[in-house]
Amino acid sequence: MSENLHIVIDKQWIISNRGNKNPVDPLKPYGWLVEKERTVSGVIEDVGIIFLTNRECPFHCLMCDLWKNTTDQSVPIGAIPDQIEWALEQMPPTKHLKLYNSGSFFDEGAISEQDYPRIASLLSSFETVIVESHPKLINEKCLRFKNLLIPELEVALGLETVNPEVLKKLNKQMTLEDFRNSVGFLNENGIRSRAFILLKPPFMSETEGVFWAKRSLDFAFNIGVDCCTIIPVRAGNGAMDQLLDTGDFSLPDIHSLELVLEYGIRLHAGRVFADTWDLGLFSSCKKCISQKINRLNTMNLNQMIIDRIKCTCEKK
Ligand code: SF4
Ligand SMILES: [Zn+2]
Repeated sequence: MSENLHIVIDKQWIISNRGNKNPVDPLKPYGWLVEKERTVSGVIEDVGIIFLTNRECPFHCLMCDLWKNTTDQSVPIGAIPDQIEWALEQMPPTKHLKLYNSGSFFDEGAISEQDYPRIASLLSSFETVIVESHPKLINEKCLRFKNLLIPELEVALGLETVNPEVLKKLNKQMTLEDFRNSVGFLNENGIRSRAFILLKPPFMSETEGVFWAKRSLDFAFNIGVDCCTIIPVRAGNGAMDQLLDTGDFSLPDIHSLELVLEYGIRLHAGRVFADTWDLGLFSSCKKCISQKINRLNTMNLNQMIIDRIKCTCEKK
C-alpha cells in the first residue's frame, strides 16, 4: 500500500486539479453507440447506449472523468426526453438500451422526475433499460420510474472497491453498507443491479489491485448483484494525473484485467465483463495487445475462459 495514503483528498482538491469541460449541447446527447453484450438470458445481443448530456454529478469521485461532458446547471425540463427521442431516431433498433448520464439517473438535478412519463413512453418498445446511479440515490424514486416502464429496469451502481480505506479516499461518500442496502432494496423490488468495480484504483500495487478487484467481485455477488463490470483505472481527469506524478497511482496492466476476468467467470455467480475501452493504454507490448483485446472481448461475450496469449512480455 502506498506510503502517501495520508494525502488529504477532498472535493476541493479534486476539482482544483480539473481541466476544462468539453463543449456540450444541453439539447443533444453527447454520444450514442451500439455494442454487443451477453444478456441475462445468455444470448449475445445488440445493446444501444445513449450518453445523455445533463448537469454534472455532485459526488466528485477521485477517479471520475465523466464531468467532462456535462453542464454546470440543470438542463431544462423536456431536454432529456428530447435527447432520447433524437438519439433513437439516429440509432438502429435494439432490444436493450443503456441510458448513461455521467452521473445518477435518479439525481433530480440531472434528470427531473417530471420527465419520467415521457422518458418511459419513449422506451416502451425495449425489453431492458439500464440506467446508472450512485447507491445513495436508490430509493422510492426508482420505483416510481420502474412503475412507469414497460421494459425491465436494471440499475448499474459503482461499487468501485471493497477496500474500505481506499474507498474512502475515492470520495465516493459511500460505505459498503450503503451499497449492500441499495442492492437489497433493488432486489426486493425486482430490479436487477450491476456493479462497476475498479481494477487498481490509486494507492494500490498491481498485486493489491488484482486482489481487491477479486474481493469486490466476491462481495458484489454475495449481496445479490446480477452482473459486474471490471474497469481498469485511467488517468486524465487532473487529480489522477497528479497521483501518477506522486507515485500514488499507476496504470494497471492488461494482464491483471485478464486475471480478474478469468476469476470472475470461474465464480459462475453471474456475468462478469471487462471494460475494453481504450485497452491499448494498459500494455506496452505491441506484439500481443490486439490478441489480448480479442481474447477479453470473446470472454466477455461467451463467459468462458479461453487459452491465454503466449508472449515474451509475460516472461518478466
Ligand atoms: S458517483 Fe459516478 S458519476 Fe458521480 S462522481 Fe462518482 S464516479 Fe463520477
Ligand atoms: Zn506481449
